[in-house]
Order: sequence, then structure tokens, then C-alpha cells
Amino acid sequence: MGRTIVIGGGIAGLTAGYRLLRAGADVIVLEAGDRAGGKLATVREQGALIELGPDSVFTHKPWAKELIEEIGQGSEVLEPAAQGFSLLVDGRLRPVPRPLARLDTVAPGAFDGADFLGEQDKERAARPADWAEPHERDASVAAFFRARFGERFSKFVAEPLLAGLYSGDPESLGMAALYPRYWRPHEATSPAGGPAFISLRRGMGSLVQALVNRLGDVVRLSSAAKAVERSGASLSVRTSAETFEAESLVLAVPSFAAARLLQGVAPVASELLERQQHASTSVVTMLFPAGAFRKPPEGNGFLVPRSENCALSGCTFSSLKWPGRAPEGKTLLRSFLRHGGPEGALIELDRLFSVTSAPELTRFDTWDRALPQYNLGHLDWLAGVRLALSGLPIALAGASYGGIGVPDCVRQGIEAAAQFTG
Ligand SMILES: Cc1cc2nc3c(=O)[nH]c(=O)nc-3n(C[C@H](O)[C@H](O)[C@H](O)COP(=O)(O)OP(=O)(O)OC[C@H]3O[C@@H](n4cnc5c(N)ncnc54)[C@H](O)[C@@H]3O)c2cc1C
Repeated sequence: MGRTIVIGGGIAGLTAGYRLLRAGADVIVLEAGDRAGGKLATVREQGALIELGPDSVFTHKPWAKELIEEIGQGSEVLEPAAQGFSLLVDGRLRPVPRPLARLDTVAPGAFDGADFLGEQDKERAARPADWAEPHERDASVAAFFRARFGERFSKFVAEPLLAGLYSGDPESLGMAALYPRYWRPHEATSPAGGPAFISLRRGMGSLVQALVNRLGDVVRLSSAAKAVERSGASLSVRTSAETFEAESLVLAVPSFAAARLLQGVAPVASELLERQQHASTSVVTMLFPAGAFRKPPEGNGFLVPRSENCALSGCTFSSLKWPGRAPEGKTLLRSFLRHGGPEGALIELDRLFSVTSAPELTRFDTWDRALPQYNLGHLDWLAGVRLALSGLPIALAGASYGGIGVPDCVRQGIEAAAQFTG
């Protein structure tokens, strides 16, 4: 087995690197930044544990949880301390009392108290889905859920729950790639027992650290790949300091970065990769002292339908959702911004919870082009990219391609490694 170079040290690249190493391969992981992990980043400030990127993984897609266990981090798993979330409708928070991870099996009574939905909406939501027929063509998230649940349920519940995560336009996001379990229900995996979401006691960054510890000097930080070239049967990867020869490559970088790297060696793939759109996202994290709210937040957060006049698309009540995230009595909130900055976020929080004390800590983090958009036809686009790469020993892995969430990125890392280890 010749050398494999993994470009990108986010969760997809680290997983690929780990699996290649475990299979006895000669592997190098090149990471542009001065730390590994990409979007997985945990910091500690003033006694609070703050996630800058993902704060949890979905367990119905088992790959991240399995990796956590495989690398000996199973005892670090945290289950949510709070259940339920709210929806902001007409300026008021409406609790959705039961956990609602899958809209294909809405628990009976989940919306009993939801006065913003009519009886007909609730009945329709609780009715077993008659979507067993496989669909031939892609449809937008908005169109699909309008047809399934009706206008109001789709606008107030399904769209914020399912499209909001991607900071995308529900009229453009495609069902086939984003929600295959609704789109092709006969292919859906059945959920494992236990909570739908888990986190790690020392934050998602500890998953990165555990992988980096196993990889050792396989991971080269501050080593941005500049270009991929072909020399005979082998490939070479140029960084500003060195050129590495490789028999195979895993590109675990966003599509726009992959496009640049492949310009010379695979111009058609490069041109296709360049076309994917991305959304940026900004997060304001605030730590409030004890007693800072006249109407304290309850549950694990809220989501905001696009029709609401609100600067936020959602907010996670981190210290209620996960144990140990803030010093005793204090409240850590993570607000996802639709527009504006920390001042706007504070105004919205004040409107909802009557804030009586200023936050002790405010962080404003912007992730530029962080969320690839799986627009209508994403799967055809991906098939085209793969076709343009066929014949080259190059695998793609990560959020731009086969799923945005951490579990899908882990799975893609595993699959990419398997391609070169047999
Ligand atoms: C704010 C936010 C919250 C999120 N919340 C959740 C959540 O709760 N749960 C969930 O499952 N998912 C969540 N996600 C999505 C998820 O975190 C990401 O999609 C996933 O982590 C992406 O992993 P990746 O390895 O594909 O890419 P990345 O993490 O982007 O890693 C790619 C790496 O490649 C490096 N790189 C780029 N170009 C080069 C180059 N030329 N040479 C070398 N290295 C290069 C980058 O520096 C980076 O480290 C969230 C995302 C964001 C932004």
C-alpha cells in the first residue's frame, strides 16, 4: 500500500486519517490551520465551556457515536439535561413539549398545547405518513413539507426544524440529499435507543483531541495544500514548504477548496466543485450571571420561523441543555444570528426573557462559507463530480458532499479510507 495523503484535518479528514493508520497505511494529514478539528472547536472562558461549532451529534446516524466509543471516549458521552424546545410564533415562545427528532413519527399529542396550529394541522401531523412511494424527482424542503403537513405546520414547525439548521432557503434546499429518510423511507435506518442527540463532557473538541493523540505526527498543522499535480502514476501535493508524493488522496476540504486544488489535475471536477453555494453563519455566545432573567429560559432552546421579525434564527440554552457548561447558577446562551451582531441578539433575548443583568461574557464568532447548500439536484451534482474524478485515486469526504452533520462527515471519512485500504 503506497502513501495516502489526507488534505483537511476537520472531523472527516481526521477520521479518514485514523482509519487509514489503523489499517497500517502510510498516511499524512495536511491541515492548513494551526489546530485540527475544523468546525469542531471548544474553548473555555470564565469557567464556561463554549462550543464554537457543533455542540452535539445526532445518534440516529450512528457513525459519530460509534467512533467516540471506538477511540475510548464512550465514558465522556453526555446526554441532554433538558428536554423539549420552543418555537417563536407571533413574538411568543411556544413550547413543543416532546422530543421531536424525526418528523416522520410525530409523537401523538406532541402538539396538543400548540395554539398556533389548528386542530386539522395537528391531526394531519399525527397521521402516519403516506410517503412510502419512492419519489422520482427532487423537491424543495418547503414544497415537500407543505404537501405533507400543510402550510402552517410547514412554515412554523417543519421549516425551522429542518431547513433552519442549514441556514438555507427552504424553497431551494433539496429533499433527496438532505432528508433521504423522508424521501426514500424504505431505506431509512431505524433509530437506536437512547437520546437522539449526545455531546461530550469536555466538549466536541475532546473528540478531535482523542483522534489527534492517536494520529501523532501523522497530522501536520499549518500545512495548507496549494496544488495537486500528477506525475506518472502517482500524485503530488505541494504545500509552501514541501512537496509530498502520494499514491492516493482524500480531499476532506470544502468544495471551494477542493476546486482550487484540482484545477490542474481534474479541471472538469474543479469547475463543478466551484459551483456549490455556501451560507455563512454567526453565533453570539453570552454568559449571564445568576438571576439575570425575570422570565428564565426553559428547555434546551428555541427556533425561529423565517416569517418572524427576529434577528435570531434560533438559540441554544447551552447550560440547561448540557450539564457542566457554565459555573453553578449562571446561564450560557448561544444565539444564531440571521442579521446584526451581539447588540441585536441581546435585544431579542431581553424581549423574550426580560434580562436584568448584562452578560459577563460575550463572544461573537462568524463562520464564513461554513454551510454548504444542498440545493435541488445536489445528488446529480455529486454524481457528476465523482464521474469527473473517476480514474483518479482521489476520494472526497466531508460536509460539502455526502451530508453536513458530524455523523455523516465521520461516515464519509470511514468510506474514503476504505476506498484505499480495501
Ligand atoms: C456554527 C456551526 C454549528 C454546527 N452545529 C452542528 C451540530 O450541532 N451537529 C452537527 O452534527 N453538525 C453541526 N455543524 C456542522 C458540522 O460541524 C460540519 O459540517 C462538520 O464539522 C464539517 O466537517 P468537515 O471535516 O467536512 O469540514 P471542516 O470542519 O470544514 O474541515 C475542513 C478542514 O480542512 C482545512 N483545509 C481547508 N483547505 C485546506 C488546504 N488547502 N490544505 C489543508 N487543509 C485545508 C480547514 O482548515 C479545516 O480544518 C455545525 C456547523 C457550524 C458552522
